[in-house]
Amino acid sequence: VREDSRIVIEDDWPGYSLDLFTYPEHYCGDIESVYIPHGIIMDRTERLARNIMDDLGDHDIVVLCVLKGGYKFCADLVEFIKGLSRNSSKSLLMRVDFIRLKSYLNDQSTEDLHILGGEDLSVLSGKNVLIVEAIVDTGKTMKALLEHVETFRPKMVKVAGLLVKRVPNGLGTPPDYVGFEIPNRFVVGYALDYNEYFRDLNHICVISEAAKIKYKV
Ligand code: 5GP
Repeated sequence: VREDSRIVIEDDWPGYSLDLFTYPEHYCGDIESVYIPHGIIMDRTERLARNIMDDLGDHDIVVLCVLKGGYKFCADLVEFIKGLSRNSSKSLLMRVDFIRLKSYLNDQSTEDLHILGGEDLSVLSGKNVLIVEAIVDTGKTMKALLEHVETFRPKMVKVAGLLVKRVPNGLGTPPDYVGFEIPNRFVVGYALDYNEYFRDLNHICVISEAAKIKYKV
């Protein structure tokens, strides 16, 4: 992925003050700052949709949404691709499938990756597959998922990741389509959770230390 093919958020970016945006009252005190406002996520996603359309238009694809964190990004990305398909000579026929993974406890990645439910991915056989994931951190999850998907013998696999973290020894190949490259910080919102909280937050935010304790399991 080229340097200019993603928005790079630098290590010293503090985020926007909470007073500048709205967010649900029930998270008052739980959020430190608005890291990426919802509108910017949408604008960037619209552009990723166009890039995907330029590369893959006129083929059939299977969009594989990685749950739960990827559901917002996937839904919005698919909406933008649909819009492009309605309004240009190119169109992209999409199937949408889901896979549910779990590897995090609190704000730590755990060793074991679990693929939960709906494992019949035989529909991927011989297809062009677009994996849609909200965030790639160490890359462990994506590497394991790619290996799993390859066993179903797809024709081609591309990956779209809304967020990619700059981590010391990130492994594996970066996604083909990246929204934002972010520092190594734990973020929530836009379907990303901390122990199932904060999925109902529009913006991508940094949570407070107090919230990490409050919602710890
Ligand atoms: P990786 O295997 O790349 O280290 O971790 C990827 C998975 O960890 C993602 O699918 C996501 O579920 C979770 N994850 C990694 N970083 C974050 C983060 O900053 N916030 C949240 N909410 N989840 C994260």
